[in-house]
Amino acid sequence: MELRFFNTLERRQMEFKALDSLSAKMYTCGPTVYNFAHIGNFRAYVFEDILRRTLEFFGYSVTQVMNLTDVDDKTIRDSRKEGLPLREFTARYKQAFFEDIKLLKIEPAEVYPAATDHIPEMIALIQTLMDKGFAYQAQDKCIYFSIDKCKDYGKLARIDRENQRDGVRISTDEYAKDAVGDFALWKAWDEADGDVFWDSPWGKGRPGWHIECSAMSMKYLGESFDIHTGGVDNMFPHHEDEIAQSESATGKKWVNYWLHCEHLMVDGTKMSKSLGNFYTLRDLQSKGWSGREIRWVLVGAHYRKKLNFTLDALAQARETLAKFDSLFDRLRAVDAPGDGSEVKELTAAAGENFASAMADDLNIAPALAAAFDLMRGANRLMDEKKLSASGAQAILAAFRSFDRIIACFEVDAVRESAAIPEEVTALAEARAEARKAKNFAESDRLRDELGKLGYAVKDIPGGSWELKKL
Ligand code: AMP
Ligand code: ZN
Repeated sequence: MELRFFNTLERRQMEFKALDSLSAKMYTCGPTVYNFAHIGNFRAYVFEDILRRTLEFFGYSVTQVMNLTDVDDKTIRDSRKEGLPLREFTARYKQAFFEDIKLLKIEPAEVYPAATDHIPEMIALIQTLMDKGFAYQAQDKCIYFSIDKCKDYGKLARIDRENQRDGVRISTDEYAKDAVGDFALWKAWDEADGDVFWDSPWGKGRPGWHIECSAMSMKYLGESFDIHTGGVDNMFPHHEDEIAQSESATGKKWVNYWLHCEHLMVDGTKMSKSLGNFYTLRDLQSKGWSGREIRWVLVGAHYRKKLNFTLDALAQARETLAKFDSLFDRLRAVDAPGDGSEVKELTAAAGENFASAMADDLNIAPALAAAFDLMRGANRLMDEKKLSASGAQAILAAFRSFDRIIACFEVDAVRESAAIPEEVTALAEARAEARKAKNFAESDRLRDELGKLGYAVKDIPGGSWELKKL
C-alpha cells in the first residue's frame, strides 16, 4: 500500500519513498529540558510516535533521532536561578521526560543525543560554514549565519524575503516569528552564562539553539535523510535555520519530507508554558487520569488540525476505552465451536479501512471508525450467539494489529475489575454512598473493611471509584 504524507516543504500530499528502500530515517526536535514537558509538547511527541508506528506497521524499519536541548537561554537562566550546575539541573528533567514518554506508550527513539555531548560536532559544522563563507564573526564576537548568502533561505516557511531588513542579527534563542535576520551559530560568553561555556576557535562561548539539530541529525542519520518533524511553531525560524545551515554546509538536499503537527489548544489559545495555561502529565495523573486516557485524547485528532483540550475529553476517553476493555473481556470468554468464517468479511473490511486510512496522511478518524465498526460487529455477533472462539480470536488479533499504532487498546490485559468479588464491589458502592452523604465515619469504616479483604479504593473525579488489589 502506498504511504502518503503532507510534506510541508511542498505544501502537498506526496507518496513517501525512503532514500534507502524500507529503512526510514527520521529526526524529531525534542524537549528543552528546563521544566516538565506539558501535554501540548506531548501532542507533538505522540504525533511523531504515530508516524513512527505507522511506518513500522507498513514494514519500514525506523531509525529515529530526538535531540535533548540541555543548553540554551532557558536552561542556563533557570539552573542559575536554582543555584545548580547546568548538568545536574537538566538531568532531572531528562529523567522526567523519559518517565513521561513511557507512560504515554511512546516508542523510544533509537538515539537521544544531548546538545552538551556534541559541542565538537557543532564547532566543526560552524567551521565548515565559516570556511565556505556562509558565516562570519560580528563585533559582539558571536558567529552569525548570513542569510543573504543562502539563496533559498525561507523556502520552508515561505517567508517574504522582500521585507527582510538588512543587517538584522539575532542572538537570542527565542525570538519573534517575524524577525528575519542573520542568526547566531555560536554565542560569545557573557556574564549571564556563568560557568557555562566551551572553548572554540572564536573564543569561549556556547552554541546557538539551531545548530545542534543540524549537527546531531547529520551525525546519526547522514547528510541527507527522509523525515523531519516538529510542531508548527518550530517551522520558523528553527527549521528554516536548520535547513540553511545543513544545506549550505553540504551542498546537498538535507531532508525530503517535513511533517508538522498543529497545536494543542486551551480555550482557543495555544497551550504553552509562557501563557501558564498548561497541564503537565503529572498534573493530570494526580487528578486520576491515566497515560492511556491522555494518549487516546491526543491520538484522536488529525495531526494537522488544532485540538482543543478539555477534561471532558478525558472523561469521554475513559468511557470509550472501558467499552473496548469489556469487548476484549467478552471476546476472550467466547468458547463456541466453529472455524471463524463468520468474521472473515468483518475483520478484512476493518483491517483494510484501518490501514488505508493510516496510509492516507495518518488519517486517524476513519482509522478509529474502523475499530468502532469492528467493535459493533463483534458485539452483534455475540448478542446473536453467532461468534465462535476462533472468530473471537480473529477479532482480537485485528485489534492487536491496530494497537501497533494506536497503543491504547489493552487487548490482552486481564483486568483486575473482572475478578473482583461482588461482596467487595458492594462494599465499595456503599462507601461511595456514605461519602456522598458526608458520613465520613462510615466511609472510613468501609474503607478499612475493604482493606481487610485485600482491596484499596481510589476516588476518581466525578464521583466514581476504582478498586485495586493490595
Ligand atoms: P519546546 O520545548 O517549546 O521547544 O517544544 C517542544 C515541542 O513541542 C516542539 O515540537 C513544539 O513545536 C511542540 N509544542 C509546543 N507547544 C505545543 C502545543 N501547544 N501543541 C502542540 N505542540 C506543541
Ligand atoms: Zn530542532
